[in-house]
Amino acid sequence: MTRIVVVGSGVVGITNAYCLLKKDPSNEVTIVSQNFPTDFEFKKVYTSPIAGANWASFATPEDKFVQEIDTVGYYKFQDLIKNRPEAGVTARKDINYVTKEKFAKDGHAKKFPWFAYGQIGTDCGFRELDASEFDNNKFEYGFEYDGLVIRTSYYMTFLINECWRLSGASEGPKARFSLRRGSVKKLSEAFDLHASGRRADVIVNCTGLLARELEDLEPEERSKIYPVRGVVYVVKNTTGVKKVTIVEIDKEDESLYLMPRREGEMIIGGCFQKNEESRYVDPSLRERILGRCSYYLPQFNWKNLEIVREQVGFRPYREGGYRIERKGRIVHCYGTGGAGYQSSWGCAEKVLKLVSQVGSGSKL
Ligand SMILES: Cc1cc2nc3c(=O)[nH]c(=O)nc-3n(C[C@H](O)[C@H](O)[C@H](O)COP(=O)(O)OP(=O)(O)OC[C@H]3O[C@@H](n4cnc5c(N)ncnc54)[C@H](O)[C@@H]3O)c2cc1C
Repeated sequence: MTRIVVVGSGVVGITNAYCLLKKDPSNEVTIVSQNFPTDFEFKKVYTSPIAGANWASFATPEDKFVQEIDTVGYYKFQDLIKNRPEAGVTARKDINYVTKEKFAKDGHAKKFPWFAYGQIGTDCGFRELDASEFDNNKFEYGFEYDGLVIRTSYYMTFLINECWRLSGASEGPKARFSLRRGSVKKLSEAFDLHASGRRADVIVNCTGLLARELEDLEPEERSKIYPVRGVVYVVKNTTGVKKVTIVEIDKEDESLYLMPRREGEMIIGGCFQKNEESRYVDPSLRERILGRCSYYLPQFNWKNLEIVREQVGFRPYREGGYRIERKGRIVHCYGTGGAGYQSSWGCAEKVLKLVSQVGSGSKL
């Protein structure tokens, strides 16, 4: 039996908890977190509920580590679409347009993602758009593939329910899964927070951006973690948009993305503002993001667009990329930046291996 405390209840922590319970029936998992997906509001950073979210791997052609992680995610989400319609993951075509200005900035070279080639490319029907399929005055090229949209809080709640199901009992001595609301200043405190009342064997650190506040993380490590702010609008989808639609423009920190959810709302983003920590959104940003909808995609109906909510989120980036690493009895899993959903299943596979190196009773 291995007693595990997962610190953090974002998509990374919950997916890890689920995989740990599923992998080994003797694992007992407690999630300790200051926020949970069903919370109505959160005063501290909690990124996962704010995301779109889709699968669009950002790995470079050379980055085999992230490619491997994202590949796991692509097939896992396809499996959920097929077999678990209640998970909150919906199949959607993912269509991408590249503006003429972006093409010029890229040195007049078409840039297709790494997954266009190979197995995923075949399985997702990746194809370049024909020139007749877009406005040639604005766009240079485009591509499309079988993608998906995740309804984020709903999906995380589904995963928590799956954890209860695997637990075998919701309470009492037979329960293998528990949730505890709480905040730790140091990861070492979490060893004493296992629901069994006994000392945990392993801690899995899934604190996202707030990892930088943990007092027992090395100062150099803490300084590597930084936010990239995103602002999204949850709107009623009266526009006619049915595909995840992305317009790549020539700005480093802005683009346009639309994620129509099955439930009738749509997420409109985006911006990527490094080290911007404010929750205040300048009205001019909103005008730019929403203005791009009617400029680049006039074929849809943007009149009387009803904005339900404006959401500000902070992507948990880390210099050097993801930290999936074991230090003694602590396994770190954070720094997933703008890719926490698509990478969650692949990261969890790696975490499983690291946790199994510790096990219970080992002298690490
Ligand atoms: C606008 C926007 C759009 C995005 N779109 C996508 C997308 O389309 N696809 C995609 O894959 N990704 C997307 N992302 C990125 C994705 O949302 C993040 O990578 C992911 O949510 C990070 O998850 P996490 O679990 O690491 O962190 P979080 O969701 O922030 O969770 C951290 C958890 O740890 C808890 N915690 C932190 N510190 C402590 C502590 N000391 N004690 C106790 N608990 C603690 C928090 O309460 C929280 O529960 C987007 C992000 C944004 C902002």
